[in-house]
Amino acid sequence: MKKLIRLSKSCISNLEKKAVERVLSKEHLGMGDEVQVFEKKLKKMLNRPVVCVNSGTAALHLALQACGIGAGDEVLVPSITYVSSFQSISATGAKAIPCDVNENNLIINLKDSEKRLTKKTKAIMPVHFSGSVGELDELYKFAKKNNLRVIEDAAHAFGTTYKKKVIGSFGDITCFSFDGIKNITSGEGGCLVTNDKKIIQSSKDARLLGVINDTEKRFSAQRSWDFDVKRQGWRYHMSNINAAIGIAQLKRFKLLTKQRQNSCKYYDSLFKKQNKIMIFKRNYDLEVPHIYVVKINKMKNRNNLRKKLIKLGIQTGVHYFPNHKLSKYKLNTRKKLKVTDKIYKKLLTLPLHPDISKNDIKRVVNSLSKVLL
Ligand SMILES: *Cc1c(COP(=O)(O)O)cnc(C)c1O
Repeated sequence: MKKLIRLSKSCISNLEKKAVERVLSKEHLGMGDEVQVFEKKLKKMLNRPVVCVNSGTAALHLALQACGIGAGDEVLVPSITYVSSFQSISATGAKAIPCDVNENNLIINLKDSEKRLTKKTKAIMPVHFSGSVGELDELYKFAKKNNLRVIEDAAHAFGTTYKKKVIGSFGDITCFSFDGIKNITSGEGGCLVTNDKKIIQSSKDARLLGVINDTEKRFSAQRSWDFDVKRQGWRYHMSNINAAIGIAQLKRFKLLTKQRQNSCKYYDSLFKKQNKIMIFKRNYDLEVPHIYVVKINKMKNRNNLRKKLIKLGIQTGVHYFPNHKLSKYKLNTRKKLKVTDKIYKKLLTLPLHPDISKNDIKRVVNSLSKVLL
């Protein structure tokens, strides 16, 4: 059998390995100077204060909590997203309201969202699907008009720019994920970014079980013994090991970005020569793609198709099974999600990671065309 082409994977060099070794030798694995440095470097890139946590989901949860969102509140979110967006909302006690997406970019549809507004709606969580952000200005206008907080789920979009500004450098609150396969990884991890000082301070405390000002202590290799707790907190802080990996990945980010962008451009160029497989129009000079998704109108049985591809050594994925079809969230859906219900069955995610070669991509495209015959 031919070499397996993985759907996604971490891309690790000697830089990350040495960084981890360095932290291990110092024998300070918890939250300390490495996390502080990682936050500083992210702040420099995004030009706003950053709070690092142990996952993107934790970042979303803390952002919502810091906005005071909880029981009795509703948050608009596209149904096509990782279940993490939904779980972060329900974790606060608020209700996640599944919204429809635009057919052309799989981004939350504002006309549809408008119909789902109620007196309880407190926030909207757009998801930057595959690194694309859609019309963010329109989204912010919509939020302003309806007095909503915006928590951007930018888990896919680290490095993407919108109107010459990098995602995370503007807007209300932006949350990134650094899990193993994202645009940069820290092993596991995430962060939230905002100019809102209250959100920053409350998230800093909440990541360390609500212990007030413990972050500052940890950064000077101490901890609080004599402290107060006023609000619910969590064990969401990032470890020095994870931060060290993240710092190394940041150093390599330009290269990792180019590799992802070039691979998507190459996929696009190959798919343009046929008409069975529809690509999503993206500008890969401005976006950093996390996944490469295609739409296959004639797809009859995706599971069968995926099985055939795996026999040819090609791993594929599905982004995403709609959340409004999950037992936990289906009762939150008042009106039909027409585009979502139609489109999700046609989506297929093809292998993409920084180490994929042109030959791999050719093999993926040829194999897919062959099994679709
Ligand atoms: C990865 C991801 C998250 C959550 O990030 P974790 O670090 O895995 O918790 C949230 N939303 C989307 C769309 C994601 O892909």
